[in-house]
Amino acid sequence: SGINFDKFDCIAVKVTGENPPRAIDSFESANLRKFVVDNILRSGYKKPTPIQKHAIPIIMSGRDLMACAQTGSGKTAAFLLPMINVLLQDSRDLVIGENGCAQPQVIIVSPTRELTLQIFNEARKFAHGSILKIAVAYGGTAVRHQGDQISRGCHILVATPGRLHDFVDRNRISFESVRFVVLDEADRMLDMGFMPSVEKMMQHPTMVPSGDRQTLMFSATFPEDIQHLAGRFLSNYLFVAVGIVGG
Ligand code: ADP
Ligand code: MG
Repeated sequence: SGINFDKFDCIAVKVTGENPPRAIDSFESANLRKFVVDNILRSGYKKPTPIQKHAIPIIMSGRDLMACAQTGSGKTAAFLLPMINVLLQDSRDLVIGENGCAQPQVIIVSPTRELTLQIFNEARKFAHGSILKIAVAYGGTAVRHQGDQISRGCHILVATPGRLHDFVDRNRISFESVRFVVLDEADRMLDMGFMPSVEKMMQHPTMVPSGDRQTLMFSATFPEDIQHLAGRFLSNYLFVAVGIVGG
């Protein structure tokens, strides 16, 4: 795209929490597999944005993360790239339970159909040519096609909260193989009234306990309610905030 990311270079970054790993300077020096770096470069990304410089090594080091950065600053790749790297580096067999109940290893929840599709398309781009299966679930359209894709098994599921629970309630998706949970646009999900759904997913009887999975929250703003949710959903997490320096 024609976006000029140089404008982000003068932005202050605040990192809070115990022992944060060093930020990366380039995709090539991030310890990502060559396959992933090749897909990044093929996408036309030359250097990481500030949130990517910090979030990529944090997620690769196994930590939980609350990340706050403005819209358009590259948060999608900040979580997709390190997760795809982990799924390929330390790959686990895809499990499909009884009656075709899928057990995704990554659940990404986002508030709208448009955002969900954007994340799905980015994930397919970055995983292109790999064994990773990626599925999508959003409302306002027939369940059938999405359900067929899900029941063939998926490593990564990108979903809106409502449609996710439609599948979970029908025993088509369960959470026992989850390695990562991502709450994208957490502030918008809160505003749109999706927190009870998110809560239901986090408390689901099949959900892997918080110590045995990584939980990542991304948001454009960081109001008190989001701080409170981060404290409840995340464990020993790092907080990264990218903000414009005044003047
Ligand atoms: P956010 O989620 O923070 O609103 P996105 O992840 O949607 O931002 O990214 C905004 C745009 O910038 C997208 O078109 C994306 O492909 C592009 N982009 C993200 N990271 C980079 C990068 N490192 N270099 C070039 N373009 C990027
Ligand atoms: Mg986003």
